[in-house]
Order: sequence, then structure tokens, then C-alpha cells
Amino acid sequence: MENQSNFIKTIIESDLASGKHKEIVTRFPPEPNGFLHIGHARAIITDFESALAYGGYTNLRYDDTNPSKEDDVYVKAILDDIRWLGYEPKHVFFASDYFDEMFNRAVILIKKGLAYVDDSTPEEMGRDRGNINNVGKPSKYRNRSIDENLKLFYDMRDGKFNEGECVLRAKIDMESPNMNLRDPALYRIQYAEHHNTGNKWCIYPMYDYAHPLEDAIEGITHSLCSLEFEDHRPLYDWVVRETEMPKVPRQIEFGRLSIENTVMSKRYLRQLVEEGKVIGWDDPRMPTLQGLRRRGYTPEAIRHFVLSTGLSKVNSTAGNDMLEAALRDDLALKAKRVMAVINPLKVTITNYPEDQIEYFDVAYNQDNPELGERKIPFSRHIYIEQEDFVVEKPNNKYKRLALGVEVRLFHAYFIKANEVIYDEEGKVIEILATYDLETKSGSGFNERKPNGTIHYVEASQGLNVKLNFFGPMIEGNDDMDLMDRFNNNSWTVKEGVVETALIDAKPQDKFQFMRNGYFNVDDDSKQGHLIFNEIVPLKSSYK
Ligand code: ATP
Ligand code: MG
Repeated sequence: MENQSNFIKTIIESDLASGKHKEIVTRFPPEPNGFLHIGHARAIITDFESALAYGGYTNLRYDDTNPSKEDDVYVKAILDDIRWLGYEPKHVFFASDYFDEMFNRAVILIKKGLAYVDDSTPEEMGRDRGNINNVGKPSKYRNRSIDENLKLFYDMRDGKFNEGECVLRAKIDMESPNMNLRDPALYRIQYAEHHNTGNKWCIYPMYDYAHPLEDAIEGITHSLCSLEFEDHRPLYDWVVRETEMPKVPRQIEFGRLSIENTVMSKRYLRQLVEEGKVIGWDDPRMPTLQGLRRRGYTPEAIRHFVLSTGLSKVNSTAGNDMLEAALRDDLALKAKRVMAVINPLKVTITNYPEDQIEYFDVAYNQDNPELGERKIPFSRHIYIEQEDFVVEKPNNKYKRLALGVEVRLFHAYFIKANEVIYDEEGKVIEILATYDLETKSGSGFNERKPNGTIHYVEASQGLNVKLNFFGPMIEGNDDMDLMDRFNNNSWTVKEGVVETALIDAKPQDKFQFMRNGYFNVDDDSKQGHLIFNEIVPLKSSYK
């Protein structure tokens, strides 16, 4: 899968064949203002795989040119998440480390007559830019002399102006049909402490100026980014060329990845965290990599999913079912298959001796012997799922327990329900059954066909656990305000019983609960207080 071809690789291959590049260098440039989400995984995978396929490398570069929004918490989390996905950046850089060089390159532009200090108000600038139908109007400061611009730019740097008083602008073309080329701002004044450079600077470069320089400084050969930057490419190329950067990166855009009914915008996700709608950035319902990890999603499944959506030049939306299928595929062999009862119903095996307990040795995963085996206890007292019993067998399709009916218990015996005990409200609270010694571990299966096979957990040794189930985090339609669309019923907690073999289960251990689904041990789980998160249910046909 990793070796599949795409339009980016085609360009890279031709650049290698022509000798334009000997080594391929890419970068992933997140802004450290939030946690990474599964959309970022598309960018990370594209950046790393495009270089790896040709023996090249990828840098992680924090795009920390905006001092007001960034935080060190995000800086650490981003690197952790990239590593979790299975990639190691060759270098970890901060765009803010290049502030000196960016400043010096701006001076080159001024000296070439290609940049000027503009004192227009933001309103004037907005108005004079024009729009798609109307060309822009040159600012009255556009023809300041080089010497005046140099002096004013140094004054900007030296804190002689207030915020918003002036900006440095590129002098390109106020009549360009591409709005990005209508004398874009390169530097603005901002009196803000920066997490890396402190109070050294009071002018900060704009994204469209900083980003191409960052790429060029690092010798990035192919600067891969999402589609919304396509219109910015002419400006990107202009900046690299006119600042006379020795190495020239090439920007290539690819389509963004969205997932049905999933909102990934960092702004929205931050709001959910700040308003306490979710328990944090790693809430198992969040589409952040930390949320998905906590829920139990695996990096392999996410990679497989992203690659299988195919890289293209248009934005695309994938169904959640694709991601769920990738998870089932990945977990099928990795997860231990064990028995867990989610809605327990007591069964007493009346002909099984009290005080006796026996054990069955059973492989954890019949398809993967490497996972080893465990002992499954059996005694007079067991639990089955409430759903696996009805008093009266409704039809022949019903393959579970009913009064007077015999079923097989996985790995153990056939049991037959003989009597039902109800509480005052008429709810079934216990079944009295008998077992048949001759049917041990499924022997006798051929002579006598039981009415299906169900799972169980022995009562005295079963572990009481908490089980978390998750529904979609947002509901409703696009016309509604996002915060109103938050689904307050998206997290359900149940109390269940699992096999005693899980006693030492640790956070991130993954299991298939037979006939139910795949579950991950939650980060807050502790011995004696196990907590499981449902990763994905089994396909209903397996149930
Ligand atoms: P968001 O819109 O979610 O806030 P962003 O684009 O502002 O994300 P950045 O930190 O700037 O976040 O993202 C780093 C890189 O990840 C960018 O190059 C961006 O193009 C890319 N990226 C972000 N979201 C997606 C997505 N859904 N699909 C593909 N690439 C994405
Ligand atoms: Mg961004």
C-alpha cells in the first residue's frame, strides 16, 4: 500500500530522473495551536511516505510565526502523535528560529524596490485591494523611496510604532487577477511575547511570506500542502525567487481529507474542550489522534485507512465505515479474543456441584497462536448476556437460549434452561439450567445440535468492569450551529463482567470481546477497576 503511486510521486520521480534533486526532503509544518486530528494524518502520511519512498527524509517544523495562539503543550503533543503514527522526523525545527533571516530577506526586497512600508489603515487597505471583479488601487505610500522604506522598516522593528500603524507590503501587482498578488502584507506589528523568542521581536512575518522562506532555508525539495494553498503558489514562488534563496522548493497541493459527520477544525475542537463538553483533547470521541488512540484506534489502521482513501487533487470525504473496516482488519489477528458479558444475567447450573470449579485451556486467538492461551473457569454460577435469553423461543432463526432449549457455551458445555426466576416487576433475574457432562468442550456437537453458541463468564472469578460506548459526537445538519449539534448522549457507560484472565490488563491492551466488538483498555484503567472503551463493534453478521 505504501508503495502506491500518485501524482506527487510522479513529479518526484521526474525530478530525480532529470537530476534536479539527488535527495528528496519534505516537511510537516503544523501550527502549534491545537492537537493533531485525523485530517492531519493525511498530510503527515503524504509528507513522510513521499520522501521515504525515495530514501529521503522529512522535517517536523512548527509553524510558530503567530505569537498569540501558540502553546508548548501542543509542541510536545504534536511530536508524540507523529511518532505514534510511526514516523520519525529527521530534524525538528521552529519557524521562529528563522526570524533573523526572514528579516534580512525582507531588507533585500526593500533594497530591490519590491517592498514598502504602508501607513494606510486596515480599512483603507481592504478597500483598495478591490475584489475579483475590480482591480485594486495602489496605496498612496506605494512609491516611497528605498531609503525611506528601509528606515521605516527598521523603525517598525525597533518598536517606534503602535500595532496596526503600518505594515510592510510586497510590491507586486495591484491589478493581478490573483488577489494574493495584490501587494500582500509581509510583516505586521504585534507587541506579544513569543514562546520561543520572547520579547525580541515586535514585528512578525505573515504566513505567505514566512512559509516559503522556511521551506527554502531547510532545503525542502517538495513542499506538500493542502488544496487551499493553490492560489498562494504564485506568491510562494515570488517570495523564494525575489528574496534570492539559493534552494528553490516546489509547492504541490493535494486534496484535504474529511470524514463523514466528523468536524476536524481545531477551533471547534478547542471550543469543545474549553467549554467542558468533552473530557479533554484525548476524549475518546474526539477525532484527534490522541482521542482516537485513547479510544483504541491503531496507527496501522489509521495509516491503512488514509492510504486507501487515495491521494488526489480534490478534497474528499470518506465514510466512517472505511475506517471501521480498517480497524477490524488490523485488530483481527492482534487482539486476544475473550469473553465479556455486557448486560449480565445470572445462570445457576443446578446439576453442577457447588464449590467445584474447573478450567479450560483455550488459545487467545485461534488464528494467531503467538498470542498464547489462558484458562477459562467454569462453575455452577455463570453470567450470560440478557440478550441471549428469551423465555419462549420465537422462531427457528433464534439461535440463543430459551426455556426448554439447549445451547452450547463457548469452550465449555451444553446447557439447557429449565426454570426462570423473576423479580417483583416480572423481570427475568436468574435462569436455572442443567449442563451435560458429555458435551465438554464441544464434544458430542455432531450427535446433538444445540440451538446456537453463546458466551459466558464464570461468576465467582469474573471481573467487574466499566465499559464505555461511543456514538457520533455531532448530530443534526449543517444548517445548525456546531455547538448545538453536540450529541450529549454520545457516551454511554455500562457495568459488565469479563474473564478473570484480564486481571492484569493495562491501558492500550486490546481485546475482541467475542460476539460484541473490539475494546481497548482506557488510560484511566487500573487493576481492580478496569475500564474498557469500545473501539468498534463486530460486523453485525458476526454476532
Ligand atoms: P485545521 O483547519 O484543522 O485547524 P490547519 O490546516 O489549520 O488545521 P495546520 O497546523 O496548519 O492546521 O496543519 C498542518 C498541515 O496539515 C497543513 O499543511 C494542512 O494543510 C494539513 N492539514 C490539516 N488538515 C488537513 C486535512 N483534513 N487533510 C489534509 N491535510 C490537512
Ligand atoms: Mg493552519
